[in-house]
Amino acid sequence: MGGFSHTDDTNTWVIRDRTYTLHTIVLPASESSPEASISCLLDPRYIPLLPNPPPQAHKPIENPCFELRNTPHKGIGLFATRDVAAGDFVMTEHPALILSSGEFPPELYDAIGDRLPAKRRSELLAMANCRSPEECKSHVEGIVRTNGLLLELDPKGKLTGPKDFYGGVYPLINRSNHSCGPNVGLKWDLSSLTLTMYALRAIRKGEEIHKTYLEPALPREKRISHLQKNYRFTCDCPWCDIRGFVTTHAEEPESSSAVADNERPFTDAEVQQIADSDERRYLLGHWVFTHLGYKKWSTDLARKDDMVIKSHLEALELIRIEGMEGLQNLFIEEIAMCYAMLGYLDAFREWGEKVVTLSRIEDPPAAKRFEEWLVDPPKRVKKWGWRKTQRDQQPGRRRLKAGQAVEEEPPIDALGLLFPSSDSDD
Ligand SMILES: [Zn+2]
Repeated sequence: MGGFSHTDDTNTWVIRDRTYTLHTIVLPASESSPEASISCLLDPRYIPLLPNPPPQAHKPIENPCFELRNTPHKGIGLFATRDVAAGDFVMTEHPALILSSGEFPPELYDAIGDRLPAKRRSELLAMANCRSPEECKSHVEGIVRTNGLLLELDPKGKLTGPKDFYGGVYPLINRSNHSCGPNVGLKWDLSSLTLTMYALRAIRKGEEIHKTYLEPALPREKRISHLQKNYRFTCDCPWCDIRGFVTTHAEEPESSSAVADNERPFTDAEVQQIADSDERRYLLGHWVFTHLGYKKWSTDLARKDDMVIKSHLEALELIRIEGMEGLQNLFIEEIAMCYAMLGYLDAFREWGEKVVTLSRIEDPPAAKRFEEWLVDPPKRVKKWGWRKTQRDQQPGRRRLKAGQAVEEEPPIDALGLLFPSSDSDD
């Protein structure tokens, strides 16, 4: 890495012609929580974007639904201590560190850690570090590279000039291990400087709580190599470990049947299983670009009434199989909206309630919008039943542009052929 220097003010460092500042955010105590602090390494231009005055330290988690437990191969993990429903809150935590994702000298990483209060610092130093001392001279750097989760300090894009990626390190949330089909999602909130973990699907008592370290739409081989390269482990989630025995530790005895099984070539059925999973993930990753969405469908009477609902239900089934519930809310929300445009009250209620439950943490404005609509959907949803009204108003016999008379209202199925839709709307 290039040269670095720090000025007389030991808080300011110049690294490859960029200035960085060590900055501590002190979160004042509230009635229920003691003072907290976050140690940051930032381009000083980002400091005015931080909430000012700083938010109060968040409340301690009451009656947590999880506990820390040792796992056979992955060190400590988080486990549910009771059943958790989809959409439910799991925990909220302030990061111990916020820092730019660039490369910094070891003494600077150590300095960030040293600025934390003693208890917080020892929590930080106890976290997993997958990097060897040769790779990361500073133990804090190893912890940052093992655990850092992206966070957004400039959500409104206010800054001009060079941008940095920032990561947060969370002594508790980071204890959850990875899965390519995670059962929890994470939501960063700049105004409270917290990351909130919530259930993406129902989690049973005793089940391990998994977040994801990567983009789950990637094919298995890419996921495995990414995880191996960056986090030094072989993923044993059910979507990667299709033999049922992928070893996660090099020191596993050579003679164990697990290793032997792991080394045998895939059977044809397993090769097919991997290809099918990769295909489903690829389809899901591209779905919104390859399938009609609610917006274009809603006013396009040439499309079948159930077209988007059918296709979104198909997507939700692939999501369920692949454990990719992180993508589900868009589909669920659009299905509810389709029912609104069709004026189907019971179905709208059913799907609208799903939106409220699943969006409470992930997308609070969506949850609020649906909550208000659900009070009296036909009155409150703009354009309630619009498609039904339009269909009812269509005459049984009509003349088409091409000049042919149609004897009867064509079946909805045929409309797509008679009125090719334009893709230029909205
Ligand atoms: Zn995996």
